[in-house]
Amino acid sequence: MHVHSTGERWLFRPRQSGRLRVALVYPNSYFVGMSNLGIHAVLRLTDDECAAICERAFVEVSSGDLSKPITTLESNRSISSFDVVAFSVSFEGDYPNIVHALLSSGITLRARERKPLEPFVIGGGAALTINPEPLADLFDAIVIGEAEVIMPQLLQALERAITARDRMQAWEELAQVQGVYVPQMMSYPPTIAFADTRYIEPAHSVILTSSTEFADTFLIEVARGCSFKCHYCAYGNRYHPARHFRYEQVLDLVRRYRKMFASVGLVSAVVSAHPEIERIAWAIVEDGLRLSISSVRADVLPEGLIAALSRSGSISMTIAPETGTERLRAAIGKPIKDEDIFRGAALAEKYGMRYIKLYFMFGLPNESDEDIIAIGELVRSLVMRFKRLHFTISACAFVPKRHTKFELLGMAAGSELERKRKLLVKSLKGIERVKLSVESIRMSQLQALFSIGDRRMLSVIEKAIADGNSFSAYRKAAVEILGCAFEEFISQRHPEMK
Ligand code: SF4
Repeated sequence: MHVHSTGERWLFRPRQSGRLRVALVYPNSYFVGMSNLGIHAVLRLTDDECAAICERAFVEVSSGDLSKPITTLESNRSISSFDVVAFSVSFEGDYPNIVHALLSSGITLRARERKPLEPFVIGGGAALTINPEPLADLFDAIVIGEAEVIMPQLLQALERAITARDRMQAWEELAQVQGVYVPQMMSYPPTIAFADTRYIEPAHSVILTSSTEFADTFLIEVARGCSFKCHYCAYGNRYHPARHFRYEQVLDLVRRYRKMFASVGLVSAVVSAHPEIERIAWAIVEDGLRLSISSVRADVLPEGLIAALSRSGSISMTIAPETGTERLRAAIGKPIKDEDIFRGAALAEKYGMRYIKLYFMFGLPNESDEDIIAIGELVRSLVMRFKRLHFTISACAFVPKRHTKFELLGMAAGSELERKRKLLVKSLKGIERVKLSVESIRMSQLQALFSIGDRRMLSVIEKAIADGNSFSAYRKAAVEILGCAFEEFISQRHPEMK
């Protein structure tokens, strides 16, 4: 075990020398980035399998203050001094932080204007795989798919490119690598390169720290992709179907490192849908470890999993009904029945859990006011029936995503979303044992802009950052660059993008 001065515990000893120096940047805070398995997986791959030096950096600010360069945690050097700056991007909402990171570190924003001695800027992760276009002009290369099958060849090609110092020649070479998109040379991204989960290690934590969402927990994925295709979900539609890691693959890793942690978190799009989930869960619990899971679907919820979670001390569970009525759930491609939700809550209560988190969306296509009022009714009946449970309701506006059935339907107007938000709050008013948090509608609107946007988004973000990075700065930048109000852009159909 390697103990870092920050109190981090490393599961491997990072290399001190290598042919390539990579700054791996998560475009959000340390807390958010280290809670995400992406950065752990890429760090291990880069260091271990690709023999490159890899240092991490995080982008804590999005205030528009461009005076301080982004520096790595390990050596406190600006990311501009590395051979490669690699962004691991899970959420579109973090795009402004990527632009901010380059501008504040003195790295030329657009790949085609970058000087020979500047770093190669590459990007990867689910958000960029789903729609790389909004930031396409910024990257020398974008990883379209899963790092395990792309990074080794990509880093080899980059090693050669660093010696040659000819960006154009480098792009040509990078474009030959399977799963690599070189936007300056290609008009379309390549098809997604998927790893064969039978032959790779499941992504897992390689650094344990208390400053994450699941403090000091060893996170390990049990599947890639998702076998459901909810109409609004880009991940389920692009990373389809689920590829499950076998019981042995998961348990071997947990047991290899088990002296270093007391709790394990199982991660995937729908953990409860893994065919061996009860066996995996009980094996971990019987090894004396605490167990948590990232997500379940109420219609695929084996009782043994809840029993194992409860035995290990878990007191909360998350269910995502998405909306209040079975009719609308069916219409959005997630046909969970009310009785599935009640069964989930009944299991939680039976096994002594205390808290249930429920996720909802509003502003969905074909949604009526009755669907929203029904959210309140559903929660009210859950509260009345399950007296020992406390409920946390998280709600956000529906955001259209590329490569989904709902992509072309656009987002409801801001005033309509505001009206629906009020209706939702009213429907949940006065119910005991219920806490409600609603994500800012403005944040969701920006997310929609970045999700369905095209190559012009980079200029929108650049302009908005120059004007202070506020919501109104985005409004102004959109009018100037897109030629229309951005609410109009995200509410309209975009058939030309198909
Ligand atoms: S919402 Fe969840 S269950 Fe549905 S497709 Fe997406 S990841 Fe799968």
